[in-house]
Amino acid sequence: MSMFAHPDFDNHEIVSFGSDEESGLRAIIAVHNTALGPAVGGCRMFDYADEAAALTDALRLSRGMTYKSALAGLPMGGGKAVIMGDPQTRKTPALLRAMGRFVETLNGLYITAEDSGTTVADIKMIGTATAHVSGVIDADKFGGDPSPYTALGTYAGIKAAARHRLGVDSLDGIRVAIQGAGSVGFYLAELLLADGAQVFAADVNAANLDRVVQLGTTPVDPQSVLFADVDVLAPCAMGGVINDHTVERIAAPIIAGAANNQLATPGHAAMLREQNILYAPDFVINAGGIIDIYYQRVKSDEATIRAHVLQIADTLTQIFDQAAQTGKTTDQVACIMAEARFKGDGATCAAALKSA
Ligand code: NAD
Repeated sequence: MSMFAHPDFDNHEIVSFGSDEESGLRAIIAVHNTALGPAVGGCRMFDYADEAAALTDALRLSRGMTYKSALAGLPMGGGKAVIMGDPQTRKTPALLRAMGRFVETLNGLYITAEDSGTTVADIKMIGTATAHVSGVIDADKFGGDPSPYTALGTYAGIKAAARHRLGVDSLDGIRVAIQGAGSVGFYLAELLLADGAQVFAADVNAANLDRVVQLGTTPVDPQSVLFADVDVLAPCAMGGVINDHTVERIAAPIIAGAANNQLATPGHAAMLREQNILYAPDFVINAGGIIDIYYQRVKSDEATIRAHVLQIADTLTQIFDQAAQTGKTTDQVACIMAEARFKGDGATCAAALKSA
């Protein structure tokens, strides 16, 4: 398939393929847009079925980062890296160092960070071969893991959605079902429970589920969590969960969770609207982590990060109001707002670097 005709190509500025024979590295770095600043996005490691699946993931995730950073009001563009291979068996220091050398070839146009399948320690190892890493600077001070801030933004977004859709200012007694009690799901459950919400959680990993059950959440079956009779469904596991097989069975009036790429297609946003389900666009509500990553790079304090993350609620309220007024889906409104920010006439960072 031609790269430029790829359905997810969407005018990516750079798509780079990296390999290292000795360590077995096979990776893709996708830089979608650098109009607002260098492309920042995590480095995912996953055992993709084939390289076409890895490329599609890199392109979709990288584009999503452009929209996410633009709507979060950050001076950054969108990019993403994927390493092909099972992180449990294929990850070695040599492979991570080779990934660092690959990141370095882009000369700062792409800055990498932790993602699923990689840890802060992995990014530190990548950072031995390139300065273009984030999420680990001042790790002692900040902890390095963006999940708590992603959860905080998601929690603030759930409150904004509950206000808009249910007309309530408090989450006291509101029933929330979390699909995926991993890093974000755990911190989200903690925040919701502290606010008096009734929290249900499902996870295919027994240890992760047990951790949130200890907090006071009620376990539910992973097969049925998407269809739970609750006020808010919070997808916090994998993407694509709102699809032809699930959409009509979703009962919650609000979908507001941290998982990336929750909609299988944009058409599913329209289906949700027809079902009177308020959808908080994933790339808006889950921006807490990228906001944290940005501030770690500029060495800011926690109060500043927290204040910026909480603005996610205001952005979502604007989106909900605009969607209600225009009849567009919340996803369409969010995309239009983001594009207004990054599709200016200014030269892209890539072009500026080229001419420098
Ligand atoms: P994680 O890997 O720590 O947690 C995901 C959890 O989902 C795991 O416990 C896993 O067992 C569970 N899971 C997987 N498939 C499931 C299924 N079918 N049913 C129920 N549970 C299932 O990941 P995370 O860091 O918590 O991120 C969660 C989601 O949020 C991902 O989509 C990620 O891309 C997105 N996200 C995370 C961050 C962040 O800061 N960590 C930021 C933005 C977006």
